[in-house]
Amino acid sequence: MQNEIRGRFAPSPSGQMHLGNAWTALLAWLQVRSLGGAVVLRVEDLDPDRCRPEYTAQLLGDLAWLGLDWDEGPDVGGSHGPYRQDERRHLYAAALEALAARGLVYPCYCTRAEIRAAASAPHAGDEESAYPGTCRRYLGGAGEPPPGRHPALRLAVPDETVAFADGVHGPVAQNLAAACGDFIVRRADGVHAYQLAVVVDDAAMGITHVLRGDDLLASTSRQLYLYRLLGLTPPAFAHVPLLVSPDGRRLAKRQRDLTIGSLRDRGVTAGEITGFLAHRAGLLPAPAPVRPRDLVAAFSLDKLPRRPVVISDEAFA
Ligand code: GLU
Repeated sequence: MQNEIRGRFAPSPSGQMHLGNAWTALLAWLQVRSLGGAVVLRVEDLDPDRCRPEYTAQLLGDLAWLGLDWDEGPDVGGSHGPYRQDERRHLYAAALEALAARGLVYPCYCTRAEIRAAASAPHAGDEESAYPGTCRRYLGGAGEPPPGRHPALRLAVPDETVAFADGVHGPVAQNLAAACGDFIVRRADGVHAYQLAVVVDDAAMGITHVLRGDDLLASTSRQLYLYRLLGLTPPAFAHVPLLVSPDGRRLAKRQRDLTIGSLRDRGVTAGEITGFLAHRAGLLPAPAPVRPRDLVAAFSLDKLPRRPVVISDEAFA
């Protein structure tokens, strides 16, 4: 039991599944299956503003249509449920309570605009600036809060570098204070933050292997820090490059023609999509139709590209 390999897909039902989601889902599935492990499907419907039940149904349908399967999930059940974050909020509240009891959490009354204005050093790329620490003065219950504002809750982080070995990137080191600063663990509207929920869930579900998109690489030090504070064992992480459009922007969900549903409607088969992705992943010499299970033996993290994968407008044209 202790050595059981367990991986997961953790899609957010905030839109239709597109090629980029299929890419990470396929690679995560292949990693776990190639290790003989169990696949868990967890629906990350944490944010009620963005997530809709109809997208959950579509996601499950699209994943199954692609030939991916899972051993545990909201539809098939399992011993580590519930498998929808909406039903796990009490677990996030308990973890937050434990952090707060140790005096590590403080209320933050800043608006986004105030944070932007106070942040001194703009970050490269589209990374958000590190929180400048304005409300840290409220740590430990000190200070008089401003009237009429609901606070978010932040975790105070040390000026410390977190190092880990990524399955694709190799050694990675991120300084918590510089990369993100004190980060939000519960929003002002009471919704727990992804960073907290994902750690609580992956640990509670016994996840040993996380393969996900490069957009989450920068979150990993925060998550590892939470694992440490909560006394939990972190999984092995592998961050795969994102699919991008020719102008270098990530394939957005609004690119309708690259949703799995629209490809299917255009007559593209599941095998063709899988073959296309497997070819771009370095697992096939040419984009021939294939089933996910036929790729298990060929899968290796070493074969995966290290740079963003450009998807031309002609893909599946
Ligand atoms: N729910 C996240 C997403 O859809 C993935 C979270 C994760 O893999 O850690 O982007």
